[in-house]
Amino acid sequence: MRSRIEENIFHLRSELPPHVELIAVSKTKPAPMLMEAYEAGQRHFGENYVQELCDKQAQLPTDIQWHFIGPLQSNKVKYIAPFVHLIHGVAGISTLLEMNKQGQKLNKKIAGLIQIHVAQEETKSGFESHELSSVMEEVKNLEYVQIRGIMAMASFTENESQIRSEFRKAYALFSQIKETQDGHIFNVLSMGMSGDWKIAVEEGSTHIRVGSSIFGTR
Ligand SMILES: *Cc1c(COP(=O)(O)O)cnc(C)c1O
Repeated sequence: MRSRIEENIFHLRSELPPHVELIAVSKTKPAPMLMEAYEAGQRHFGENYVQELCDKQAQLPTDIQWHFIGPLQSNKVKYIAPFVHLIHGVAGISTLLEMNKQGQKLNKKIAGLIQIHVAQEETKSGFESHELSSVMEEVKNLEYVQIRGIMAMASFTENESQIRSEFRKAYALFSQIKETQDGHIFNVLSMGMSGDWKIAVEEGSTHIRVGSSIFGTR
């Protein structure tokens, strides 16, 4: 019999267009629950806390691709740099500089997404749209950083049209920057969570980050 977690993953996958990647957000959930998702074929996992991510990475299968999706202090980049697949939510120049430094030490490029602020809440982090072109200029000088796209979070609201317009804004910015980049590399638009991923996919998301709909509430 399939477990609840497996059921949830199969169900989500059946509703997703094939080009959209499902990232299972497993923050605060114990390793055996991640293994249930793994048994269902899930390989992309998202975590928010550096220590928790490092602990899980050390005990779970090596073919898991780990996404760091939380706010990241620059002084913690070094702990995840050796193994992280993609850092969503790069929201400051200091983080970019630190990624470059750690990438140089490891002699590899550290992949990340630039987080943009599209929500109404001031508290949500990310660059403002008018800052993006100068951020991308800065990135050009960072040999060990590979920016693969954009990450965005919509406002926490029931108002679907507002959520949609925020995702639409993120997609427009993503497309605009993509014009100036190598499209084989810059091709990730990370947006959509349990409550809003359907809208996000309709608005062009390529990677959704889903936690509670897979693992239950936290
Ligand atoms: C926790 C979290 C998610 C997943 O949220 P759910 O509502 O549980 O799907 C997605 N993205 C980020 C950045 C998160 O912190």
